[in-house]
Amino acid sequence: MCRHAAWLGSPKPLTWLLSEPEHGLYRQAYAPRMQRHGTVNADGFGVGWYDGTLGEPVRYRRPIPIWADPGLAGIARTGRSTCLIGAVRSATRGMPVEEAATAPFTGGRWLLSHNGQVRRDAVWPLATAPESPCDSAVLASAVFARLRAGAPPEDALASIVTEAAAADPEARLNVLLCGGTEIAAVAWGDTLFTRVDEAGDGVFVASEPLDDRPGWQPVPDRSLVFATPDGVRITPIDSGSDL
Ligand code: GLN
Repeated sequence: MCRHAAWLGSPKPLTWLLSEPEHGLYRQAYAPRMQRHGTVNADGFGVGWYDGTLGEPVRYRRPIPIWADPGLAGIARTGRSTCLIGAVRSATRGMPVEEAATAPFTGGRWLLSHNGQVRRDAVWPLATAPESPCDSAVLASAVFARLRAGAPPEDALASIVTEAAAADPEARLNVLLCGGTEIAAVAWGDTLFTRVDEAGDGVFVASEPLDDRPGWQPVPDRSLVFATPDGVRITPIDSGSDL
């Protein structure tokens, strides 16, 4: 299924996720190395970042292959932030291919990408006003509703994923959530990796390594990643205890 990646650390342009690393999202769109479902991610792409002058994150999404958008190069070089997210999409059969179905989804200060598939009837009861009928948009709206209700990001993600999986045991629920000062992510049915930059510059959380440098750590399935400027914590979702 889709591939996604995020960065939290010193300010970087979007190219940091897309094209600077040898296997960045630009390349993962047509040649992912660890994708378990689908072969290319040509049904759309999106990026999101935080501009200190705006209260809400900035998004740029298109329902076309990332390599087919002549407007992206300038945005990728100038969109710069301490918190970045990007996603390339391989639409699940039956889901609409449209901008509103393309990650990142947004609610308030949050940006969310879903890598996987979930039966919509499993998440509709948790959702409020998804921006598209796409399963990922419905899932995102459920997480945003819980965040609006005051849940901390780790709890919002873990509780929605647990409830969705209980209603649809076949669901694949890798989710990446950025808030500007933190990244929360779930590995549930697909690959997920973290890499703390050796210079102490920041952390990547990505579906698969963006390059072949050492330091990429696989996240165990059914785990929650929570990254802040203070470090990265990985917790099994079932037991809730620290690894
Ligand atoms: N189910 C989502 C969609 O249709 C995500 C697909 C994916 O992870 N490839 O967009």
